[in-house]
Amino acid sequence: MSERVLIVEDDPDIAHLARLHLSGGGYEVTVAGDGEAGLAAFAAGADLVLLDIGLPDLDGLEVCRRLRRAAPRVPILLLTARGEESDRVLGLELGADDYLTKPVGYRELVARVRAHLRRVSVLADGAASEAERVEVGALEVDVARHRARWDGVELDLTAREFELLELFARRTGEVFTRGDLLTELWGTAFAGYEHTVNSHINRLRKKLVAAGAPRDLVETVWGVGYRLGAQA
Ligand code: CA
Repeated sequence: MSERVLIVEDDPDIAHLARLHLSGGGYEVTVAGDGEAGLAAFAAGADLVLLDIGLPDLDGLEVCRRLRRAAPRVPILLLTARGEESDRVLGLELGADDYLTKPVGYRELVARVRAHLRRVSVLADGAASEAERVEVGALEVDVARHRARWDGVELDLTAREFELLELFARRTGEVFTRGDLLTELWGTAFAGYEHTVNSHINRLRKKLVAAGAPRDLVETVWGVGYRLGAQA
């Protein structure tokens, strides 16, 4: 069965071209022209969402927030215009996995969609075949079930946040630069997107703190990068 991509975009030309390229790439594509229609279409099922930030009804960021709340692991790729840098950062903070800047390069778009869906399916396969848990102090990463807990408190993580935490937990104490994390989790094609790493780290950290973990559990090593701190 082909994977389902939902495009939420009010510009008919962009929506049309994105649909054309993604259909050509073997995906089942649904287009929604505004935020409400997007949320309704999402409820009917989607494996990945391509989301325009500038929508006529709901703010695309609000749509992002609601999608993320409804589905922590479905990849969300933002479509942003030049000059929307702050929205883009906010979108990543709200749980989007990635973004593309308009004018959209459609070959790049299909490649990104493919990479995100492959990552999700590798995680799902891993969950089916590999019964494994990593425990570091009060932190418990259940790789098989794709769940993590701090001191018994369940963490509601996106796929990317989970991967970050799993990497930190497997290699406790090791310092990762933003470039390392980008390469490990996003792949080398994402060189230059280091600030994306910060957004994901910040969100992961917030969720850990909300579950009662110390703020420096995911520790910033100034001028170098991040590591899982000794507090675990
Ligand atoms: Ca728009």
